[in-house]
Amino acid sequence: MSHNYFKTYPSKEGFFNEYGGAFIPPVLESEMKKITDAYFTISKSHDFINELRSIRKHYQGRPTPVYYCNRLSQKYGGRIYLKREDLNHTGAHKLNHCMGEALLAKYLGKKKLIAETGAGQHGVALATAAAYFGLECEIHMGEVDISKEHPNVVRMKILGATVVPVTHGLKTLKEAVDSAFEAYLKDPINSIYCIGSVVGPHPFPMMVRDFQRVVGIEAREQYLEMTGELPDSVVACVGGGSNAMGLFSAFLDDEEVSIYGVEPGGRSMNLGDHAATMTFGTPGIIHGFKCYTLQDEKGEPSPVYSVASGLDYPGVGPEHSMLKDIKRVTYDVINDKECIEAFYELSRLEGIIPALESSHAVAYALKLAQQYPQSSILVNLSGRGDKDIDFVVDTFGLPK
Ligand SMILES: *Cc1c(COP(=O)(O)O)cnc(C)c1O
Repeated sequence: MSHNYFKTYPSKEGFFNEYGGAFIPPVLESEMKKITDAYFTISKSHDFINELRSIRKHYQGRPTPVYYCNRLSQKYGGRIYLKREDLNHTGAHKLNHCMGEALLAKYLGKKKLIAETGAGQHGVALATAAAYFGLECEIHMGEVDISKEHPNVVRMKILGATVVPVTHGLKTLKEAVDSAFEAYLKDPINSIYCIGSVVGPHPFPMMVRDFQRVVGIEAREQYLEMTGELPDSVVACVGGGSNAMGLFSAFLDDEEVSIYGVEPGGRSMNLGDHAATMTFGTPGIIHGFKCYTLQDEKGEPSPVYSVASGLDYPGVGPEHSMLKDIKRVTYDVINDKECIEAFYELSRLEGIIPALESSHAVAYALKLAQQYPQSSILVNLSGRGDKDIDFVVDTFGLPK
């Protein structure tokens, strides 16, 4: 890796080698350019950096701890450590970039935050940030998802956000993205679009990564302080890829550290039964940027599935796509069954109920620990599992 990694990637046009960029209509292109220019000026200013630091400490509760899993390590081998993003305010890593995006909106003089949400996690984090800054918040959500994700819809409304039901097409995430972009283009002066992961057109993959870097910077320092060395492996789940980029970015230059991104293998290896974009996909353009994608014969995004709704996206961050090609990160899959087993193992051996998304990373760490019993493994526990408990028990039952 180059010492100037963060200056080299992305390029000025937003490319990570061949991936990324902005394949969008001209109106949107000029808006994205304005946001990019403003981001470069504002995010480097003393006031912005100080305000974000203060928010991280006093509002979000950062730094989140790194925790050594004694009982889990005894059972599976290895030395397993967790970066506890589940203890971040709102219970997941998403608030890291939502607070950054909302602070940028404030500096830009915007009045309204607009976004789509699938399972509702991004919507809740953004509604939280909007409440903090006194901004309006409009969340577009497919009608199907609204009925599936009732508690998150209620949370958004309690926090003061407007939830806009999307009633056309399949009434899920893809239509919600289109609807949110449309709403944003009606008033780009007063509003800003806030993407929920390291995806979408430039500058979002770069901005969201930068706002998530705090996870890796903290974790590397904490791990060094606890053990005097670096971990042999770092592991994170990959949906769009924001929690993974946050952790990985701090270790890219450490050649002795192996890096693993874990994709959802779902219920089978057939198209439509998983969301393992990099394991089974091919490069293509989706939602305005180039990345590995899962597509049908017509080049349309394919339906995807995972037991963890936060991971079911038919694309992935452009930076991950590059890191796969240059072989700095290894991407692999964990299926639903392995994910549920890990969910219960962490709950019962450590008293920590993980999000189903994060359980994919935990499951992979358990495999690594068994395979390399002398090694140390640092896992990003991206979120807590309270949102998943009823679904898991109703669908899979309690373990014997
Ligand atoms: C949304 C979510 C993810 C997936 O998003 P990434 O951008 O891939 O990090 C992972 N874990 C949790 C807890 C989430 O809420």
